[in-house]
Amino acid sequence: MDISAFQLDTLVRPNVKNLKPYSSARDEHHDLSGIFLDANENPFETGLNRYPDPHQVALKERLAAIKQVNKENIFLGNGSDEAIDLIIRAFCRPGEDNIVIPDPTYGMYQVCATINDIKVRKVQLKADFSLDEDQVLKEIDHQTKLIFLCSPNNPTGNRFSKDAISRIISTFKGIVVIDEAYIDFSTDPGFVSWVQRTPNLIVLQTFSKAWGMAGVRLGMAFSSQEIIEIMNRIKPPYNISTLTQKTALEVLQNVDEVQPKVNIILREKERLYNELATLSMVQQVFRSEANFILARMDQANFIYEQLLKQHIIVRNRSKATLCDQCLRFTVGTKEENDRLISALKNIQSS
Ligand code: PMP
Repeated sequence: MDISAFQLDTLVRPNVKNLKPYSSARDEHHDLSGIFLDANENPFETGLNRYPDPHQVALKERLAAIKQVNKENIFLGNGSDEAIDLIIRAFCRPGEDNIVIPDPTYGMYQVCATINDIKVRKVQLKADFSLDEDQVLKEIDHQTKLIFLCSPNNPTGNRFSKDAISRIISTFKGIVVIDEAYIDFSTDPGFVSWVQRTPNLIVLQTFSKAWGMAGVRLGMAFSSQEIIEIMNRIKPPYNISTLTQKTALEVLQNVDEVQPKVNIILREKERLYNELATLSMVQQVFRSEANFILARMDQANFIYEQLLKQHIIVRNRSKATLCDQCLRFTVGTKEENDRLISALKNIQSS
């Protein structure tokens, strides 16, 4: 985009711009060799009696090397859900501004916007679930601060075209947030490498999916140093616990263990896709670049209930736009997928 056309200053909410952020004594004095009588902690050692590093320096340094960005380009949140909420709160004025999102997509953009009294403008995906970028651009007005694009998209599983996304980035004068929670299941490298040269882009990723760490609650936002600074100003000071930072660092020491498991999930996804496609109760199986498959069934509600009776929990998306009669199946282990397939076959033959 034309960098001169982008004015971050005018996008940030005035109260956020003028905020004097909370600052701890340890933010102000970086000598960590003394005794700590500043933060009202308990002095007796439990392994967790001290507050965590509010800037998560060790973790960010490691991530920066892996993701090939500077640590100043990384924000860490309590799941990417925290980043979504903070981005909305940083840029959107309650009761005045709006965000644009595709429909259907991940539900939290709308939830966070609504909690913050921000209007949501939904742009229906095309029938093949691709992004209607003309319509997205038409929905923008002076109060549109953010466009959220989830790619690969949840619940549809497809990735949006690079051309469509890059056209939106280069036309929109607000901020484009690309949620890449599922990008590690795609062969596409995604947009992280763009953030240092694209001033109006935030890319979200998470430890919850390919990294296998949903329980740790750790999400990443990659963006310009300026946008990351704004997010850091408004985050709770100690949003990433000591346990989370430590566990994540351990996982990052063993990056080699991630890809083999992703590969198994991808192989299982292919098998599940083929199995679903042979079932007569399945009308259509959608190609997915994520770790789940959306399928249109004959009677989604009935099948969903029957699966529940067999203690198999899937996601009923049949009320979502364009997803009439659709269930979303997360790819499990081979044994779990076998159980799902045989349960579906039993329901079909009963
Ligand atoms: N983005 C998308 C597209 C998701 O599907 C999810 C979780 N299902 C999230 C973000 C939230 O991820 P996290 O666990 O990092 O909060």
